[in-house]
Amino acid sequence: MPQGAGLIERAFTRLLMRMVQVTDVEAPQPDFRFITLQGESLRHYDWMPGDKVQIKLDGGLQTRTYTPFEFDPHSGRMRIVGYCHGPGPGADWVRGARAGEARALFGPRGSLNLQNLASCTVLFGDETSFGLAAALRRDEPGLHCVFEVVSPTQSRAVLHALGLGNARLIERRDDDSHMDEAIDAVRRSAEIRTSFVLTGRAPAIQRVGRALKAHGFDATQLRSKPYWAPGRSGLD
Ligand SMILES: Cc1cc2nc3c(=O)[nH]c(=O)nc-3n(C[C@H](O)[C@H](O)[C@H](O)COP(=O)(O)OP(=O)(O)OC[C@H]3O[C@@H](n4cnc5c(N)ncnc54)[C@H](O)[C@@H]3O)c2cc1C
Repeated sequence: MPQGAGLIERAFTRLLMRMVQVTDVEAPQPDFRFITLQGESLRHYDWMPGDKVQIKLDGGLQTRTYTPFEFDPHSGRMRIVGYCHGPGPGADWVRGARAGEARALFGPRGSLNLQNLASCTVLFGDETSFGLAAALRRDEPGLHCVFEVVSPTQSRAVLHALGLGNARLIERRDDDSHMDEAIDAVRRSAEIRTSFVLTGRAPAIQRVGRALKAHGFDATQLRSKPYWAPGRSGLD
């Protein structure tokens, strides 16, 4: 914790958060980091794919949320994929993360309920969903992924490193003109009994969810969780 942290901030952090250390940072592509965090306080935790952690940033009590894609309860070690979307407190932390730095965090704890998914599961998301996809793939070998991404070249390389080389990538356009192609890719991946997991950019999730319902899929087949929304900060 920074030296200058106030009394309330220090007390809050010590009482309510787990202390961990960044033990490794890889930059598989310029806009992505694989960050390893380890701490005694993470040992013996009963982790489920899809659980989130809220990492405290410097200067106050603000946190940003990430999805571990590996978790080892014996060593108390976990890994996240951080995406540097541009300027922002979370993206700045991801970009500058260094081995040896101490961090406080909440969790891991439940986010999306991913129990009892159908044998065919289709995940729609973006760069912020790569960690979730990598975590889910362990238990769901029949997972199909469709991602809207800013850079298909960078994303393809990162997904290969995560064992998700079969993911369908669609380049995101500011006017959303790529969304019909994305919805079509999601529908084509589906079988009769399919679960859909929708995460990432809030307006994209809403649009895919509406389209799936309009095509006759039942609301019970959909699990969705917005990870970020234009103009909003620090969703969790
Ligand atoms: C449950 C959950 C799990 C998540 N897991 C991950 C994860 O594993 N890896 C990961 O990288 N992120 C993940 N996220 C998303 C991540 O928390 C946000 O992208 C983060 O809030 C960005 O923080 P920031 O401070 O940089 O921007 P914020 O202050 O939160 O946002 C400022 C502005 O930046 C823009 N913005 C924010 N995020 C993005 C983005 N991804 N792409 C483009 N523009 C953006 C928006 O316009 C926003 O208004 C997760 C979020 C949730 C809720």
